[in-house]
Parts: sequence; C-alpha cells; structure tokens
Amino acid sequence: MSDPIRVTVWNEFRHEKTHPRVKEIYPDGIHNVIAGFLKQQGFEVRTATLDEPDHGLDDNKLDSTDVLIWWGHMAHHEVSDHIVDKVQQRVLNGMGLIVLHSGHFSKIFRRMMGTSCDLKWRDDDYERIWVVSPGHPIVEGVDQYFELPEEMYGEPFDIPQPDELVLISWFRGGEVFRSGCCYTRGAGRIFYFRPGHETLPTYHNENVQKIISNAVRWAAPRFTPVRVFGNTQPVEKRA
Ligand code: ZN
Repeated sequence: MSDPIRVTVWNEFRHEKTHPRVKEIYPDGIHNVIAGFLKQQGFEVRTATLDEPDHGLDDNKLDSTDVLIWWGHMAHHEVSDHIVDKVQQRVLNGMGLIVLHSGHFSKIFRRMMGTSCDLKWRDDDYERIWVVSPGHPIVEGVDQYFELPEEMYGEPFDIPQPDELVLISWFRGGEVFRSGCCYTRGAGRIFYFRPGHETLPTYHNENVQKIISNAVRWAAPRFTPVRVFGNTQPVEKRA
C-alpha cells in the first residue's frame, strides 16, 4: 500500500468565533469538519489557521503537505504575502491546492490565477450543481446533479478558462456559475470548488464531502517532478 496522501486544511477561523449561527454549525471550525471526513477516507490530515504563527504554515508543515485546502473570507488581507509566496512556490513545484467558496478572493488564488477572480453574489438562494464532465475523477460517485441551500455566486467569474470544467451551478434566482474548475500551474494541480457559505451546513453534505475527497486524490502529486531551469550546456556535444 502506498503512503497516505498528506492533507493540510487551512481555515481563516474567524466567523466561527464571532457569529452564533456559524458557531452552531461548525463549533470547532470549518477546518475540523473537513479534516474529519478526510480522515475517514484514510488521508493523513492536519489543520492550520490564520491566527497561528506563520498562519500554521511553517516550512516543515508545507514541505510535508501533498494537498493544501483553503477556506477564507473576511480576513484575506491579513494573510502575509511572505506565506503566499511560499505556498505559490510549493504549488509550482507540485503541491496540490483546493480553494473553497469565498477563497476565490484569497491572495493565493488570485496569485495563481492572475485575474481579479471577482463574481456576482447574493445571500439566501438555492443551488443545483450539475456534473458537466461525467467520468472525471473529481465527480466519481456523484449523480448527474445535487442541490443545496446556498449563497448565490453568478457569472461572469473573472478567472482564466479552466483546463477542465467539472461542475456548473444553476441558482433559483436564474444565475449560473462555473463551480468546479481544474487548473495546472507549474507542476501543481489546482481545483476551485464553489459551495461552502459559512452560515449553511454545506460541508456536512455527502456530495460536497465526496467531491472534496476526490479532489484531494486528483490534486495530489504523483511523483517528485524534475524541473531544471536556467543557463545550460548543450545536450549534444560537438565533435
Ligand atoms: Zn459565502
């Protein structure tokens, strides 16, 4: 059996401390709910939060992370650029990155995309998430669609065209949104997954858990890539 995939679940962990409804749904934080179902899948899981030293992402932790999951919303600006630089470098070298919901505005996602990552939004809507790439490993075990009470995110979503688009959402208000987007940056794989508003029990949903677990397997590096850059000698030697 191969070594388990090492996952670090990063959460801003602010709403849970200040908002009674969020505290009720996620008493130990969104990160611990995500860590809980991932552990049941056999992954080796640790958590990290904004207010820890280095936001819980010191070099040791990052170097032993295969896939980093990111949830943030109200304090994106408090994430230090120095840590964002390090995470970006790890992704380019092969670490997987899964960005959830309001993480679309995180420094790391905007850095990796190079666009504003802006979108439309509205509270209290209802979402039907359609699988548009049946057979893609990220939607293994998911039916053709599922539904959730959710916040609305609407197009245009200012991202580069995804390498693969796996999920599209429709909302009761009529908007649509690219909800499951795959990218490669350097040697790393990135997956953006839309649902996960903090006042709703989205991360307790079976389909959402299945997609995040599948995305961890998809984003995990398969081997240590060889990446050689810079000035170099000719491969062919002149006679
Ligand atoms: Zn939200």
